[in-house]
This record gives sequence, C-alpha cells and structure tokens, in this order.
Amino acid sequence: MKALDDPVDVEPPRKGEDPADCTACNAPDEAYIWVSDRWRVRAMDRPTGLPMVLILESRSHLDLGDLPNMLAAELGVMTVRLERAIRSLDDVARVHVNRWGDGEAHLHLWFMGRPHGRLQLRGTFLSLWDEILPPVPEAKWRENLALVAAWLAEFGGTPLAEPPRIDWKAPAKLETAVPLVLDAEEGRTPEENGVADESDRTADDAIADDWTAKKDGTAGESDAASDPHGPGPADTSQARGTAENGDSVPVTMPPVVPAPSST
Ligand SMILES: [Zn+2]
Repeated sequence: MKALDDPVDVEPPRKGEDPADCTACNAPDEAYIWVSDRWRVRAMDRPTGLPMVLILESRSHLDLGDLPNMLAAELGVMTVRLERAIRSLDDVARVHVNRWGDGEAHLHLWFMGRPHGRLQLRGTFLSLWDEILPPVPEAKWRENLALVAAWLAEFGGTPLAEPPRIDWKAPAKLETAVPLVLDAEEGRTPEENGVADESDRTADDAIADDWTAKKDGTAGESDAASDPHGPGPADTSQARGTAENGDSVPVTMPPVVPAPSST
C-alpha cells in the first residue's frame, strides 16, 4: 500500500525544460524508427511486454499547449496515422494513446498496443501491464517496428527500421560464437570464414552495433569479447562459411538488429 504524500508547494522542473538538456532535442534521427521534417517516432530500446509501444515526438522543443495551429492540426493527422499503423499489426486489438507530460518536458505521445484477446488488459492499467508481461520475441518486435515505419513512410518521411535480415531460430550468442573462435585460432582468416574484412563495414553496421550494444547494455565494451570478427555482412550467402565437409555453416553474425536505412 502506498501512503498519499502531502502536496508540495512548488513543483520541481521536469526533465529537459531547457532544450540544451532535452533528451529528445539531443537525440539523432538514428534513434528513431521513422522521421519527418516535423515529427519523429521512436520505440523503446528493447522488446516490450506489450506487442508495441511507440512514442510520437515533435521535432521542435514544444509541449502540447505550445503547438501552433499547423502543428496542432498535424498532430491529429499523425495520431490517427500511427494508431492505424499499430492497429494493423496482427497481435494488436486496440491502441491506447496517452499524453502524461509529467516526466519529460518535450511533447511526446505514447501509443500502446493492447494485445489481442487480452480483455483483462483493457482500460487504464495497460501501461503497468507493459512492465509486468514478459517481453515479446525480439524478432517479432523488430518486424512489427519495420511494419509501422513502412506504413508511416507511405505518407512521407523516412523509415529507419527495417525487418530482420535473417530469421535466426536462436540468437547468435555463445553457442555459435565459441566454435568460430576456435576456427580463428586454427589459423583461418576472417575471409576464409566468410566474414567480411572490417574495412567492408558500413555506417549501417556501426549503427547496428551501437543498437546492439545499447540493448545488451554492453556499450563501451570491446567487440572482441563476444564477436571476434565483428558483424558479418548482411547478405546470407556472404555470411556463411564452408565447413570441411562442404556444408554451409553460419558464421558470426550479430543478433538481429534494426538496420537503419541509409536512404
Ligand atoms: Zn526538446
């Protein structure tokens, strides 16, 4: 049971009241799944308990009541568009749209997909259920993010989330990484293992690494700790080495990550 606190005389400032300290204003477009000139949509940094949780932000440092008429009208259009996009997902029955505004000062609207058939989750407690439910499978989550981003891009803007390029049955973690480390120790070069040279890495790869690191909480750690060759290329054919018996074997690939579009 929570006791009701006494009211304070003066409320503390919210986070990011000053644009210089504002998380949204300082976030690059790559942190979002879709961007346009005036709006950006971002996801959580990891799979959520609900099938979809997204945040719609204005690009300008404004709060809801500050919006000029044109942006206010466009907020209505964006709200409807994003609601439809999320509702189009198979596992979403309803989309809750919330604006609290108690935490961050920069305008942000929450869009939460209520899972299909989960009648118990109807109503005001949906946001709490998001923290209680086990996270949805990561591959499905990323696929849904890409679907929503593509839906929004039909009307303009730039989608920055793409579907997983390879549908790994199991995340490429220690089980697959260990034999590959042994391969490398036996004198095979990364090229012989079918992995592209580091110089072949693209900016997308670096961004993908960054996402992965943030998701795993390993930002700042050496890549070598978990992945001796760095992420391989996206193309399946290049990403496979050849075992002694000629069978194609998977080689080091990062876990499925969103690959922000370069376009
Ligand atoms: Zn801001």
